[in-house]
Amino acid sequence: MKYALVTGGSRGIGRAISLELAAMGYYVLVNYLSNAEEAGKTLTEIRQHGGDGELLPFDVGDKDQVQQQLSRWTDNNPEKHIEVLVNNAGIRKDALMVWMEDIQWSEVIRTNLDSFFLVTRTVLNGMLQKRYGRIINVVSLSGLKGHAGQTNYSAAKAGVIGATKALAQEVGRHGITVNAVAPGFIHTDMTEGLNEKELKILIPVRRFGLPEEVAFAVGFLASPRASYITAEVLSINGGLYS
Ligand code: NAP
Repeated sequence: MKYALVTGGSRGIGRAISLELAAMGYYVLVNYLSNAEEAGKTLTEIRQHGGDGELLPFDVGDKDQVQQQLSRWTDNNPEKHIEVLVNNAGIRKDALMVWMEDIQWSEVIRTNLDSFFLVTRTVLNGMLQKRYGRIINVVSLSGLKGHAGQTNYSAAKAGVIGATKALAQEVGRHGITVNAVAPGFIHTDMTEGLNEKELKILIPVRRFGLPEEVAFAVGFLASPRASYITAEVLSINGGLYS
């Protein structure tokens, strides 16, 4: 059995990634924050498709929770090795800079950027010992291009992009690749309320993307065959920005 951890793996893009990795034969640790019902649905769907996994709730931006939950899992499963880590959990709390409150800045940085450090540092040890690993970070078009009303979110995602490239330099010789995918507008709860009719005019393929279209790319980067691709940021945005 091969093991994968998907943060925020219970809904939206993360759910599609969990299903994709399960279809590739991974036992998937599905992390989420609080919505146990949606997480349960994801696990059921994984099993209905012949895969397996378990739920692993914790706040990815909380150092103690990350350490407790991941070391508990590792202690209970000493012979098991997480070989794929997808840092996908994320939130947005948009506001123009002049109106942005401290909490909007700090929560977005904590959940999108601190989480990368806290979770990856914990999982990396096992990958180094086994001399194999795949780390895929879900960033955003906003981290590449910048987006008005999202200085917090753009900063966090740009930070993860920098960290992706730096970590790739550190661990390449140990058989570990580190890449990022940068979605544009994808149909999930996060983009509910956006005016697709207006926005799709800006997108060359004239539609929002599907979570499965991101998951497919993550599956590719997670596969052993992608072993010569590292430090890369793959845009998945229908041509909106390149
Ligand atoms: P979503 O539908 O809102 O789902 C978010 C997922 O992250 C849920 O599973 C949620 O768990 C989990 N989560 C949130 N905060 C967490 C925390 N502190 N600890 C652990 N889990 C947490 O979001 P999405 O649209 O699929 O986005 C997934 C990723 O893609 C994010 O990093 C986002 O920034 C990025 N992205 C999305 C788009 C887009 O258009 N949708 C575009 C570019 C980038 P609960 O269900 O328990 O809340």
